[in-house]
Amino acid sequence: MSQQADCLFCKIVRGEVPAEIVREGERTVAFRDINPQAPTHVLVIPRDHHENVAEAAAQDSGLVDAVVRDAHEVAVQEGIADSGYRLVFNTGSGAGQTVFHLHGHVLGGRGLEWPPG
Ligand code: 5GP
Repeated sequence: MSQQADCLFCKIVRGEVPAEIVREGERTVAFRDINPQAPTHVLVIPRDHHENVAEAAAQDSGLVDAVVRDAHEVAVQEGIADSGYRLVFNTGSGAGQTVFHLHGHVLGGRGLEWPPG
């Protein structure tokens, strides 16, 4: 497994930083965002460290499949799959990425506007 010692989300995977974990997959971990932007706001991350979704897609596209599949499982588990949810991968600081370990935001439980801000 490829991890980084000082990455916040790698630390959550290793249990060194506490998080409210809602699902543990073979290749992913899902936990509640500390600053939720919707009634349901869960982050789905790979156990392996990749900076963003583009880097993971280039190196291990099966991992991106696992993140998307497990994000849907989280939506089902959280009861937002039928009403609709948004899966967001901020990619790069210009798009608002602040933690450089790939994560999909699963957002739902309220109406979501388009286009996003
Ligand atoms: P980004 O802006 O990189 O797409 O998303 C990073 C997300 O991580 C933000 O929504 C932020 O609230 C969340 N976050 C940052 N630090 C922590 C933390 O220590 N624990 C949890 N659970 N979420 C965090």
